[in-house]
This record gives sequence, C-alpha cells and structure tokens, in this order.
Amino acid sequence: SYRKGGYHAVRMGDSFNAGRYIAQRKLGWGQFSTVWLAYDTHSSVYVALKIQKSAPEFGQSALHEIEVLSAISDGDPSNSKFVVRLVDHFKHVGPNGQHLCMVLEFLGDSLLQLTKYNRYKGLELKKVKEICRCILTGLDYLHRELKLIHTDLKPENILLLSTINPSKDPIKSGMKPILERPEGNLHGGSTMSLIEKKLKQRARRAAARISGRQPSTGGVGSNAKPERCLEGIDLRCKIVDFGSACWGDKPLAEEIQTRQYRAPEVILQSRYSFPADMWSFACTAFELATGEMMFTPNVGQGFSEDEDHLASMMELLGKMPKKIATGGAKSKDYFDKFGDLKRIRRLKYGSLDRLLVDKFNFSDSDAKEFAEFLVPILDFDPVTRPTAQQCLQHSWIDIKNID
Ligand code: ADP
Ligand code: MG
Repeated sequence: SYRKGGYHAVRMGDSFNAGRYIAQRKLGWGQFSTVWLAYDTHSSVYVALKIQKSAPEFGQSALHEIEVLSAISDGDPSNSKFVVRLVDHFKHVGPNGQHLCMVLEFLGDSLLQLTKYNRYKGLELKKVKEICRCILTGLDYLHRELKLIHTDLKPENILLLSTINPSKDPIKSGMKPILERPEGNLHGGSTMSLIEKKLKQRARRAAARISGRQPSTGGVGSNAKPERCLEGIDLRCKIVDFGSACWGDKPLAEEIQTRQYRAPEVILQSRYSFPADMWSFACTAFELATGEMMFTPNVGQGFSEDEDHLASMMELLGKMPKKIATGGAKSKDYFDKFGDLKRIRRLKYGSLDRLLVDKFNFSDSDAKEFAEFLVPILDFDPVTRPTAQQCLQHSWIDIKNID
C-alpha cells in the first residue's frame, strides 16, 4: 500500500506543515490512513496526525471527514462533548502523491484494547456506566445538535483520554519529543531501536498495570484481580473515526456499520437514521460489561450471515413485529408474509437478563437493572427506540444512583 495513491511512508523525525509537526511514532492505521504521534512545535503538545492515502477517492473522503470534524469542533468550543477534536488540517506532498492530513487531539487506548487488557472478562458495572455516560453525551451532541449519524460506533472507535493512560501520554511519562530525524539511523540503527525498546517496555508495563497482570508472568494464570489497576480512575473516553459519518437528512451508503453492531433496519434496508447508532451503542455497552460481543453471526448451511444475525436478535429479544420484519427492501429475501424467517424455522428464545445471569454470572439484581436499561434500546422499531438524550435520563445511568 506504500505506492502511488497509497499510504505516505513516515519516519520518526519527519516534519509536516512547514515544520510545525514532527512525527514521533506510529499509533495505528485504518483502511485509508496511517496515524502518527506527532509533536506540535507551535503549541508544545503531542497530537495525533492522521495521514490519508493519496488517491483521489481517499482525498474526497478525507475532505468529508474534515468537514464533519470541523462542524464537531465549531459546535463544541469548550471541548466537553466527548467527541474527538480536530486541531488543524493541511496537505502534504510526498513521493506517492498529495495526502490530506488531519491533526487530532491525542487520545489513548480504545475500549477494545481495554477489554483485551481485562482479559475479556467485562468491566465493573460502575465503570461501564461512566463510559456509557460519555458515549451517550457524545451521541446526544452529534444527533441532536449536529444532526450527524456516526454509522460505525463500536469499542474500537471509542478511545480513552490519554491522561489516564500514562504509557500513552508522553508528557506524563516524561518523554522528550524527537525534534529531528535521528542521524544515520534511518534503517533502525542503535538510537532508534533503543527508543523503540523503551516505548515497548513502557507499553507492556501499562498494559500490565491496567489488567492487573504482572508483566513478567504475562499469562492468564496470574491470580491478580483484573481490574485492580482501574480502581479509583474516572474513566473517560471520546468517540473517534468520522470517516463514514453522514448527515441525518442525507444517508450516504446503503450498508453501514460493522457487522456485529449493525441495526436490524440496516440489515433489512428499511430507512435508517440516528437510532441506528443507538443500536450499536447498546451492543457496545453489553460488550463492555460482559467482555463478549452481543451478536456474532455466521453463515450456515442454507442460510446467510444476515439471516443468522436476525435469528440471534429474535432469540435474545423476542419475535420481530411483523410490520418491521416485512417493511424493508430486503425483507422478502429473509421473511415470509407472516413475518417468520424463511430458512431458520426453529428459534430458541431466551432473554437478556437470563443470559447475563446464566452465562456471565451477573447477580439477579444487576442483570435485571442492566437489562431494563438495554432492552428498550434494542427495540426492533427504530422509531420507538430511545434517543441518547432519553438514555441519559435513565436511572441506571443517573449519576445520583452511582456510588
Ligand atoms: P481510519 O479512518 O483509517 O480507520 P481511524 O480514525 O480509525 O482511521 O484511526 C486509525 C487508528 O489510529 C485508530 O484505530 C487508533 O488506534 C489510532 N488513532 C486514531 N485517532 C487517534 C487519536 N486521536 N489519538 C490516538 N490514536 C488515534
Ligand atoms: Mg477506523
């Protein structure tokens, strides 16, 4: 992918935007971009530099993302809405072409990484509530004030604030910025590998700290309590990745969302809007609390992934109302005229609170309260699904009820 039209190859110490930003190390990458930790020499802070692939179609989508991120920043001058902030944007010309670059506030690990550190055990409910409150505040802002649908909400696209994550916060960890390309070490010479080694060690220690696992033993066998190190930390996070976000009145793509977080109206190709994000939110909250995805559909003998997905939804949440089941452009492919699945005939109905007790060892009361919060959001009918604003008023999430 590092060729004409593709990614821009970056080396530690490379400078961008007339010398303002200096690349430090790679943070991650997506389908369309690589993301680097960079030092902003104007304001003396670390930022995340997202460098888009150079082909015109990637440029177009970066322009759209910049437009969306600018609206987000303009509407939230105090930066209090739990959505990532765009600091700057510019063009960078390299050997593979012209790349649009976004400068974002620097954030920490994703909720997916957090679940991994916690060995897929699920977080304490108090922490799940804190995280949910951030996500809902962000969604409420996006939906009600900006009329923006995220369309790809999932743990991977929610990042912790880096300050609670010392390994990722170079200022707290006392790391000095690299201001120029290390001389003579362009191919991984001694200086560079020493720095990289240190960074790796630090990341490993932080992962151990968060998971409560000893870095030396490193195995699941450790008897340390997984959440020890999250104790007393106010978990805060922000929504990121607006590459596929769209305005509520002009949906872009027909098929949106990552499979496991996809709403029934998207699968059935009925009209989708803001409630589709709420469905993904509910799947995300479940995953944080249990450590497992809510739905993991597969293709089977004689049925498709979509059909397996619809069947799993109904097994957990009850039969889909006929009006909904038969109301989408794809309904006829999957449902008969009675609103029953054509190719998966016998469903094993259960309930969310039973699942939480039986499979995830929730207490009866925890399960009941969590299910009372989640089940309404998993309404098959997007019209009656609660909004982010309504969810924020639910007693389960109410700050007064959290000790
Ligand atoms: P893409 O649109 O190409 O999928 P993303 O915006 O999802 O790109 O970013 C790719 C990865 O870069 C993320 O998964 C994350 O690891 C990292 N990343 C993105 N934004 C930030 C940020 N603001 N701070 C820290 N890391 C980030
Ligand atoms: Mg992404």
